[in-house]
Amino acid sequence: MPRVQFEDIIKSYGRFTVLKNLDLTVEDGEFLVLLGPSGCGKTTLLNLLAGLLDVSAGRITIGERDVTDLDPKDRGLAMVFQSYALYPTKTVEGNLRFGLSAQKLDRAEVDRRVAWAAKLLQIEPLLARKPAQLSGGQRQRVAIGRALVKQVPVFLFDEPLSNLDAKLRTEMRLEIKKLHDELKSTIVYVTHDQIEAMTMATKIAVMDGGVIQQLGTPDEIYTRPQNLFVAGFIGSPAMNLRRGTVTKSNGSVRATVDGHEFDLGAYPFETAPTDGQPIVVGLRPEHFGVPGEAVPDAAGSFELPVQYTERTGADATGYLRLGDGLLAVRMDPERSGALRQGNTIRVAYPGSRLNVFDATTGQRL
Ligand code: ATP
Repeated sequence: MPRVQFEDIIKSYGRFTVLKNLDLTVEDGEFLVLLGPSGCGKTTLLNLLAGLLDVSAGRITIGERDVTDLDPKDRGLAMVFQSYALYPTKTVEGNLRFGLSAQKLDRAEVDRRVAWAAKLLQIEPLLARKPAQLSGGQRQRVAIGRALVKQVPVFLFDEPLSNLDAKLRTEMRLEIKKLHDELKSTIVYVTHDQIEAMTMATKIAVMDGGVIQQLGTPDEIYTRPQNLFVAGFIGSPAMNLRRGTVTKSNGSVRATVDGHEFDLGAYPFETAPTDGQPIVVGLRPEHFGVPGEAVPDAAGSFELPVQYTERTGADATGYLRLGDGLLAVRMDPERSGALRQGNTIRVAYPGSRLNVFDATTGQRL
């Protein structure tokens, strides 16, 4: 399967530049998710690759082929849209066949591919139905089938699960991931849903303002966000981001945050901080330890008053007052149920889970 490369891509509408000198390589067989808030330019990037939009400058290659100026049909891609885009008057089988009409294949080959896709997606019993007789999830499977029968090396997905309810989305996530494991195709998938990105991607490109903020595996993006945007965007509840100052003395490096001290001695600084440097400390709600939970490498431990708690079934979050803001701390629902506003609770944060950013540039230190 080929790699896909975007080189120095610019896309402008008049004086408004949507994509700004963007470089990105999607490796052979990779499942790359373009993730970012509404308006960040992810659909624009996908449409440039599909050939549905023209670049203002830059080059797109698929394998060794420069496809920048090629027609969509000559690029060797298949696309699945959010809206499914099925033909309402054709049956499921008719929709699958229609995807192949431009390829001038013999009938036996068309039959073989339709049967293969229908089996893979478990839509064989639905082949004679029209789209109006299908559920949302079934329609989406047919839309994926119509792309699969083309047997192209690169698949593009534009928010394919946004119209489905939460349960179906979870099922389809698994199905699409399984398909990728089986077919080993290169996939570029657009979403603003971080759970989809974290569960399916082999690599995530987090975008904001027409720029790729970080490219990495889901684990890298989650554990080592490279800047404040990525840190705040990935994770739910979001990472606590609190301003503080570095103090260096007698070989120790500490951070003071709202009057509380964190030991940064074990933090693997990529760039050494200076004494007095303004920083932002990032603390994930799920990494705090509460009484009864051991935190052997605690960088800081403090007693804070409870403002309120929130339970979401299996999980609970306590919001604790810290300075003029709130600190989200994930905890056991039973413990949270026993807490009342004004109670205090001791929390500790492990040094190995700290995130430290330069407050001026927003970059990870
Ligand atoms: P969403 O998740 O809402 O679809 P997105 O990240 O996919 O968002 P794009 O659709 O790529 O965002 O749009 C990126 C930016 O480009 C937006 O600010 C949008 O308003 C702008 N834009 C898109 N198409 C045009 C156009 N034809 N003319 C002018 N601006 C456009």
